[in-house]
Amino acid sequence: MGKYRWFPLRETLFEIVHHLKRDGNPERWTEAWIKITKNGVCPSCHQSLMGTELANREFRKLQSTFLKKTLIGDDIYQRSHPLELKNFRKFVEEHAPFDIVIDSLNVASKISQHKRSFQLRKVVEYFALEKHMKVLVIGRKHMKKWHQTDMNYIIKHASCFFLENISKDDPYLLYATMYSGPKTMFVSSDEMRDHKYLLGEVMGEIFTKWQRSRQIQFLRINKQGKIMLEWPRKENVKAQFNSAWHIPYDNGEVRPSWQDPFTWLCLRQSTFDFK
Ligand SMILES: [Zn+2]
Repeated sequence: MGKYRWFPLRETLFEIVHHLKRDGNPERWTEAWIKITKNGVCPSCHQSLMGTELANREFRKLQSTFLKKTLIGDDIYQRSHPLELKNFRKFVEEHAPFDIVIDSLNVASKISQHKRSFQLRKVVEYFALEKHMKVLVIGRKHMKKWHQTDMNYIIKHASCFFLENISKDDPYLLYATMYSGPKTMFVSSDEMRDHKYLLGEVMGEIFTKWQRSRQIQFLRINKQGKIMLEWPRKENVKAQFNSAWHIPYDNGEVRPSWQDPFTWLCLRQSTFDFK
């Protein structure tokens, strides 16, 4: 997801802890340098951190704003043929809801031409057969010339919509995902910045929050043939207070640009020391 988000360094938080625990401070503070577990729980104080899921009301608002924008036909949609958009909307209305929507060119990129269809096929197989999800693949017309056995497999196990070769696919991807409801996810490495800005400041923030909880990134197929994905995080990676402070920080470890750090400071005031 492009640029790093900003997080404080461990040294900075260390200074804060040092200040809170200074001699003469009547407040008693305890700190723990932790990694949050996969289900979003602090191993030190056992609190669940606030999740990334949008409130249903927030999602409905985002959904209606976004779907309306596609009707009005902002610039971003005029890059595609109006008839194509109309056909796509009809297709989605007939086949939705989907559990997952796949940007096929994104999944089939960074690989030699003859392996593309195979890679996409493996991803479809993973979601449709292993995860039992209802899959929509958004592709381009030129893909129909890809390896026939793979393409037949993909068409058999997923709903497929092939856009004109020049069309921008991310509006379609987002449209189908949002139309399908709050639980639907999508596979893409696209940052979707244009969409965020088109939605304006307030709705754009909600869009980003939604994106962080719904976007799966395809990384690669490993040597054992296993699909490597980056799933969205359960916890909202920002400082939060709920009887204890939990502050994510940058521990200086190299990480992929789209990934937030896993390291947190858990900071709480001990109030029951004198019982
Ligand atoms: Zn904690």
